[in-house]
Amino acid sequence: MLSSSVMAEQVNLYSARKEALIKPLLDKFTQQTGISVNLVTGNADNLITRLKSEGKYSPADLLLTTDVGRLYRAKEQGLTQTISVSPAIAALPNNFRDEQGHWLGLSLRARPMMVSVDRVDAQTIANVEDLISPEWKGRVCIRSSSNIYNQSMVAALIAQLGESAAQEWVNGLVNNFARSPQGGDRDQIKAVAAGLCDVAIANTYYLAGMLSSEDEITQQQAKKVKVIWPNQADRGTHINISGVALTKNAPNKDAALKLIDFLLSNESQLWYATTNHEYPILANISWSELLQSFGTFKTEQVPLGQLGELNAAAVKMMDRAGWK
Ligand code: FE
Repeated sequence: MLSSSVMAEQVNLYSARKEALIKPLLDKFTQQTGISVNLVTGNADNLITRLKSEGKYSPADLLLTTDVGRLYRAKEQGLTQTISVSPAIAALPNNFRDEQGHWLGLSLRARPMMVSVDRVDAQTIANVEDLISPEWKGRVCIRSSSNIYNQSMVAALIAQLGESAAQEWVNGLVNNFARSPQGGDRDQIKAVAAGLCDVAIANTYYLAGMLSSEDEITQQQAKKVKVIWPNQADRGTHINISGVALTKNAPNKDAALKLIDFLLSNESQLWYATTNHEYPILANISWSELLQSFGTFKTEQVPLGQLGELNAAAVKMMDRAGWK
């Protein structure tokens, strides 16, 4: 019989990522370390609720989500604890880590404007503020305000411009919508390709996924759309992270910390950039050719925790503007 000291180590991971976008990395981790990973995939809010109801009996060690707003929520509800700083974590820029170290970013996502190649002269649009001018009336596509990517984007605007300027932008944007929000980011890109609107706001990995799709039609649609990096002369383009939090009672803390270090390793960072088409969170990792084709860009410098803090204000603002 095995004594507990030689029993295989394990980590329990609650993940809001699609399984295909994390499982291959976890398998590599197991190969390298012998630590097995038990993956529970689900909706972020449901996983947070589950953590809460399981309380100190929760088997979960780590919570993985694709928006900092969710990590912030888990921390606010007292479900997380400080992650001790390893050399890999110390290499992360401060704005990609929680002030108390309860969560940190693993990959970066950018949310620029995407315009029709045929109908929009890219020189005529530089900032998200341009989208509220009369010129863009009836030409803007974006998904619903219930989506946390948009909530975080508006929260970042509040942090940088203040309440009244942010409200003015949200009102103006809604006023220029081509249609009532529907579908996900991919659907906004398709709508631009189909001529239903001339500009969309969407995360770049959706466009990259379409460009590298096996489906010829999807690829053609993506080619009708061009990325415009907004606000390059001032605050930079809106970004968010996928990230991880260490749960308050993590029963396998040491193994969990090893997994975090592995997810920040060069190997994993490169994988995010080539397989998920997200940006590596570490500056020294090279980008895939596809990401390079979108060009380099200046990013917003808002401490990402503020996106969570200002989430409620952002949601109210979008409601007031009638953003469905
Ligand atoms: Fe997404």
